[in-house]
Amino acid sequence: MARVILEDVRKTYPNGFKAIHGVDVAIEEGEFLVLVGPSGCGKSTLLRMIAGLESVTEGSVSIGERRVNDLEPSERDIAMVFQNYALYPHMSVYKNMAYGLKIMGLPKEEINQRVKKAAEILELTEEQLTRKPKQLSGGQRQRVAMGRAIVREPSVFLFDEPLSNLDAKLRVQMRLEIKQLQSELGITSVYVTHDQVEAMTLGHRLMVLNAGNVEQLGTPIELYQRPASLFVAGFIGSPSMNFADAKIDAEGKNVTISGQAALPLGDGGMPKHAGKDVTLGIRPEHLELAGDEAGSVPLIASMIEHLGADTLIHGHFGESKSNLTVRIEGIQYVNPGDALPIRVSPDHLHLFDPATEKRLE
Ligand code: ATP
Repeated sequence: MARVILEDVRKTYPNGFKAIHGVDVAIEEGEFLVLVGPSGCGKSTLLRMIAGLESVTEGSVSIGERRVNDLEPSERDIAMVFQNYALYPHMSVYKNMAYGLKIMGLPKEEINQRVKKAAEILELTEEQLTRKPKQLSGGQRQRVAMGRAIVREPSVFLFDEPLSNLDAKLRVQMRLEIKQLQSELGITSVYVTHDQVEAMTLGHRLMVLNAGNVEQLGTPIELYQRPASLFVAGFIGSPSMNFADAKIDAEGKNVTISGQAALPLGDGGMPKHAGKDVTLGIRPEHLELAGDEAGSVPLIASMIEHLGADTLIHGHFGESKSNLTVRIEGIQYVNPGDALPIRVSPDHLHLFDPATEKRLE
């Protein structure tokens, strides 16, 4: 186990493209950090700099107490699991798992012990150890790739989208297995994904990257409850947060969407932003059906989707053009054109500055 510390880490590729603009983070011993963000945001670049597969242009990468910028990947005490598993097709599963240890010059008996122990943890049978990778299912291959990382008993695990080649059901299963394994072994881990559900469920903390910059670093719940920017707000949560152009009234007590829906801002309001144009964010699960009570705002339904456990109602407030999605628990019988009284607790309103796209407090 080791801490991984990045200090003002930057990457400029040889063609001059700046892929990472300065990342600072201290990943604690045993922590599971997920790097998440859309395609091209720089997740893999950052992970590969920790691994030593890409050079660090500026800043420093430390693993344990050592600065590793100039060390080879093999000298960094890390093990990496890739998306394509990177297994040797001509070797048996056993040999695939043993190979790295052989190169390290470990005695045969120790290699055997470590491979057997990893196989047991990963529930790979004796018989499966004799097969070639192509004679295994996708999930089993993924386990072998994990096994190859485990046997090295590294200080740090690095995962680069390890589940993206698996079908949806297997992804969920392997996700749970990785989470359990990491918590049992307690090995500091950095995991790259573009899947926000994977990020939310696996990470102790998430680093959301956007075009080479850190948008926010925090626990899944912090990111969900207090997204620091429009980008994070739209990225975390499913279905995505609703956004609408809105305005805070002159007293700072209510926020209105296109002058149609006055939503109270709660105790004390937001006097310092009185009269300001804002981007209002509300998660679909926080728009509630209000019965007929006062203080509700009518939403005109336009489309209904039944998911079984939930119903998604798409619509808009009065004359407002902003489309909103409402997620209601259970099966709700609603027709297009129906007006539904909707309420939202002030605690669940997110306000952003339309110019900077940062959260307003
Ligand atoms: P994905 O989810 O698609 O894998 P990513 O977030 O992992 O994306 P990176 O692979 O880190 O993104 O790439 C970040 C940016 O750097 C991209 O714009 C990419 O085109 C660019 N890039 C990557 N490798 C190189 C390279 N060798 N030379 C120049 N630019 C590169």
